[in-house]
Amino acid sequence: MSKYDLLIKGGRVVFPYLGVRKVDIGIKEERISAISESLPSQEAIEVADAAGRFVFPGAVDSHVHIGIYRPLKEDATSESQSAASGGVTTILSYFRPGKNYLNKTGPYRELLPELLDLSKGSYVVDYGYNLTMNTESHIREIEWLVREGGVSTFKYYMFYKLLNLAGSSSDGMNYLMIDSPVDLGFLYKYMKEVSRVNELFKDYGRISLSVHCEEPEIIRATNEEVKVKPSGNPLKDYSDARPPWEEELAINEVSIIAENTGCPVNLLHLSSQKAVEAGKDVSSRYPELDFLLEGTLHHLGLSNDMDLGILAKVNPPIRSRQDVDYLWKSVLDGTIKTIVSDHASVTREIKKGNLWTSLPGFGGTSLMFPVLITEGYHKRGLPLHRIAELTASNPARYHNLFPKKGSVWVGGDADFAIVDIDEEKEVTLRDLHTAQDFSPEEGMKFKGWTKCTILRGKVIFEDGQIRTDPGYGKFVKRPVKLHGKL
Ligand SMILES: [Zn+2]
Repeated sequence: MSKYDLLIKGGRVVFPYLGVRKVDIGIKEERISAISESLPSQEAIEVADAAGRFVFPGAVDSHVHIGIYRPLKEDATSESQSAASGGVTTILSYFRPGKNYLNKTGPYRELLPELLDLSKGSYVVDYGYNLTMNTESHIREIEWLVREGGVSTFKYYMFYKLLNLAGSSSDGMNYLMIDSPVDLGFLYKYMKEVSRVNELFKDYGRISLSVHCEEPEIIRATNEEVKVKPSGNPLKDYSDARPPWEEELAINEVSIIAENTGCPVNLLHLSSQKAVEAGKDVSSRYPELDFLLEGTLHHLGLSNDMDLGILAKVNPPIRSRQDVDYLWKSVLDGTIKTIVSDHASVTREIKKGNLWTSLPGFGGTSLMFPVLITEGYHKRGLPLHRIAELTASNPARYHNLFPKKGSVWVGGDADFAIVDIDEEKEVTLRDLHTAQDFSPEEGMKFKGWTKCTILRGKVIFEDGQIRTDPGYGKFVKRPVKLHGKL
């Protein structure tokens, strides 16, 4: 019997928090079983030659929207293939009841089994869900969701608190299929319960609330101003219609409620200097609170002086070049702790309409390494081990997957992205392995492409091809310290 099922040989391994070292990695029964300067090939059934390449821990994309605009089952397959092609081995997908997604509401005791049923057999990478509570009875299910459901991250969308969503005719409550509003009073009750449950499970991890911080009452007014006097550049108009200071205001409101309830908060997709400064400010104002500041690939890779058109509409908007520079500074100095894609697969057809009516969002999970290695490592000197922290170990820690995921240690899941940091390629749709029929990054040149992706010891992507069937990806119950062996 062979000592290893798979041996990753000759690569330079990127250890989060430590640095890069040339070592071999032996894998047995889906986990890392040996890390050594040299392991003999004859002791392995299969050898992955990583010579000349960098071996990163498989990325954990902790902010994805599977099934938001397309049927969940097919979206899970196509978009988890996209993730796999980009070296992402675990995705955490946000789900909420209401329109889009499953187009229904109800108790999570019914919705979660349905969601997991649809997911089973559909994913090629491992996955978990982050859930939105829309009603007080949902809030009462939080403890059960952690204890039984394997869900440890929850979400609140601030801009659904208005009955009339700014800039569209949608009715917030109708959209969520609820009969009382998800206003700040609702958020207060929501945070109180997340805080209580966090205390209850504190030996096992961090139960947290992710918040999309944008203030709709302001957006309604600033939208009006821009609609009267558009500049002609749609992305700049969209940014002006949702100005950075409404993010700043929202972050302050949310943080004051968090302070009064003791709720751990994830400040999602900070897009602007003002938003990051607000995140830093509240972190130092309330040092006893646990804030995570999250950055997104598209806010780091795109700016509103680029000629991208309304296909790059997203909430919060793509900002100015100056904001992008500030975001990078915040990545380099460690203020931003995780980087995610906020991937939502759309097509031109789904996105049709004008700037104000077109649906927000687009995908980009497969560009995790190309964007960070090109813009971060090559252009700004971001060390490779920091890229491993931002993409794998930090999201795994904050969302209770660590050290099963996001680590390079004996006993952890053998999840890896083998990357050529110098290979330069133009982005083509074919290489993104997505169901999207466009990408804002199409035609841009990036260095740092994934050559091989390994999930629990199995090669799932290699030489530009997906190498596994839907269904290999498993649901990971979190906190992993509560729900089973590491
Ligand atoms: Zn999102």
